[in-house]
Amino acid sequence: MKVFATIEEVRSWGKSAGFVPTMGALHEGHASLIRRSAAENDQTIVSIFVNPTQFGPTEDLAKYPRTLEADLKLCEAAGADAVFTPDKRMIYPDGFCTWVTVEGLGDKLCGASRPGHFKGVTTVVAKLFNIVQPARAYFGQKDAQQALILGRMVRDLDMPIEMVTCPIIREPDGLAMSSRNRYLNEDERKRAVGLSKALGEVEKLFKSGTRKVSILRAKLATTLDDYVDKLDYAEILDAEDLSETAEIKRPALAAAAAFVGSTRLIDNVILSPTSG
Ligand code: AMP
Repeated sequence: MKVFATIEEVRSWGKSAGFVPTMGALHEGHASLIRRSAAENDQTIVSIFVNPTQFGPTEDLAKYPRTLEADLKLCEAAGADAVFTPDKRMIYPDGFCTWVTVEGLGDKLCGASRPGHFKGVTTVVAKLFNIVQPARAYFGQKDAQQALILGRMVRDLDMPIEMVTCPIIREPDGLAMSSRNRYLNEDERKRAVGLSKALGEVEKLFKSGTRKVSILRAKLATTLDDYVDKLDYAEILDAEDLSETAEIKRPALAAAAAFVGSTRLIDNVILSPTSG
């Protein structure tokens, strides 16, 4: 497996690869994306870059876990052919002043509580796409809003990239895997399961025939309340365009963000009337 630190090395390596952008501190969720890409492409490249522009001023940029050595091992074991580890200056040279913004979709859910977050995400992913020039790119449903926004960016800007969204990988008790889970102490780790528990309760209610969003949303919020320290949001929105809906007639995204201790966790589930 090759490790590239510069844009030039990536450019001369080749095109049409499968691409998995990450911020490192890799876990089985990331590995599932890499394995999927390795199975579907001749070559797979992973980027590891803790993108400063997607962190707010009071967020965890400085303490975000950096575990490069273990990450490289995971990438190789999962079937990556190359890893791109640019530094901050390379991605954001002096005088950098160009941004990519997807309007509307980025104002809700995580965008409402993390202003500027998605502008940072779309900009860095657009840049990485230009550097890597992949045929396909792999993202996790764990960050459902991010996948939706990036899909819209690729469509609106005619980027010649096939976007693949992969299922959420969970711990045995249901907690969605996340690089931020390692911030949790023992008690917090136990309560962190509340997100997937609450979403599971909502899914159960939905499968038993409940379609009213007010009832489902209340179930989500009250169940979460038993576990988490502070609710950020508990929402049920149209899964395609994140519009509000009173009754589920098309696939809906049930999504929650909450603080357990000082760690902000997110999770979601799709409620699909056809399979409900
Ligand atoms: P991150 O390093 O957190 O920016 O995540 C990089 C990619 O991995 C994103 O597309 C995430 O959605 C995806 N990802 C993170 N956690 C999971 C998970 N538990 N299951 C599936 N994909 C994930």
